[in-house]
Amino acid sequence: MLYICTMITKPEILAPAGDMDKLKTALAYGADAVYAGIPKFSLRTRETAFSTESLQEAIEYVHKKDKKIYLTLNIFPHNLKVEAFLRELDTVVPMGPDALIMADPGMIALARDRHPAMPLHLSTQANTVNWAAAAFWRDLGLQRIILSRELRLDEIAEIHARVPGIELEAFVHGAICIAYSGRCLISNYLHFRDANQGTCTNSCRWEYRMAYERGSLLDIEGGQKAADALSAPAEGLVLHESERPGEAFPISEDMHGTYLMNSKDLCAIELIPELLRSGVCSLKIEGRTKSSYYTAVTTRAYRRALDAHLAGKLFDPEDLRELMRLSNRTYTTGFYTRNPRQYGENYEDGLSEGIGEAVAGRVLAYDPGSGLAELEVKNRFSQNETLTLITPEGNRDILPCRILDDKGRNLECAHGGGKNVRIPLTEDPGPFAFLRKKSI
Ligand code: SF4
Repeated sequence: MLYICTMITKPEILAPAGDMDKLKTALAYGADAVYAGIPKFSLRTRETAFSTESLQEAIEYVHKKDKKIYLTLNIFPHNLKVEAFLRELDTVVPMGPDALIMADPGMIALARDRHPAMPLHLSTQANTVNWAAAAFWRDLGLQRIILSRELRLDEIAEIHARVPGIELEAFVHGAICIAYSGRCLISNYLHFRDANQGTCTNSCRWEYRMAYERGSLLDIEGGQKAADALSAPAEGLVLHESERPGEAFPISEDMHGTYLMNSKDLCAIELIPELLRSGVCSLKIEGRTKSSYYTAVTTRAYRRALDAHLAGKLFDPEDLRELMRLSNRTYTTGFYTRNPRQYGENYEDGLSEGIGEAVAGRVLAYDPGSGLAELEVKNRFSQNETLTLITPEGNRDILPCRILDDKGRNLECAHGGGKNVRIPLTEDPGPFAFLRKKSI
């Protein structure tokens, strides 16, 4: 077997690249590497904005920046998809990605045979939770294992100690599944959309109410009705979801009419030293479907925290505060320090909310002659409202003072979803700057 070992020697920040813009943003904000989906064969088939053709451009862009790009082909293809999967494999390997992220053992074996020099990373969907499995994959020639998110730090450390010679990657930030990652059938059962084929509807986040099968909606907290519901035969109950009127999902066991499967989001920024000590060399941020703004803020926070640790400096709590300002379902450190049990879930709602600091807009261009920056407006802001300018280098507060429309007329406010506006800035903030509203 020909296996080229290109193991990394320095820990890396690995950021999501849902499309070309997010890829460039991630690199600008400090990612060492990005991961991007192959259309049809990764777990984000709905949203990925890369075509097979545009992947070539993405790979060239990343390599010009001397960074790395890993391509995800981590679905478990049924027989019908195997040939197409292999054709895709043969198409993308010559493009020169730094690794392929795969999960299916059969596809991995075929990939090894067809492209022996191509580094392979084992997807978290393969749920590696012990050293024996890690040794198995190493001996098969995989370069890296993306560990199961359900592992404790001491378990990771044992895998690292017992299985030298394989890189370990761990998720540090983002949404997590309520089931062992990728082993969930909720979306498939309720909506015929298979999580392992890339079409998950995130059904674990929905708001459920229980009703009799004949359709009368019940308030589960409403006294007698609730009691009736709980004593009704299980096969006679269905779930309704607030955003899907008219749809009824049969259930087979009692539930509490709430967000009963909604995991909190992972945030392990304060555990970076422990993760590195456990043998993790790649810190992965989840979120290919999230915005460029999310990519920017998360990547920069983890970059700063990792660099501070490597330089022997203390963790700066401001990096955590930056993550708190992002929309989130409240944070958890997952399984790294203990089993979170019920504290790992948010039963209150399925929304992803920050602490009132929404993105105001994105800087599209800057004209040094007039000193005006053109903005794509995301959320309403007014001319006398202090905003935070976010750049790869850091944050600073600004007061727009003037907001101009495309004809140069003064506006009191800029409105999200409306036309672009221009505001004065004292210097060019560069191509990847955002403006954020302050706490309200
Ligand atoms: S429904 Fe939720 S738990 Fe299941 S695969 Fe999708 S995101 Fe994961």
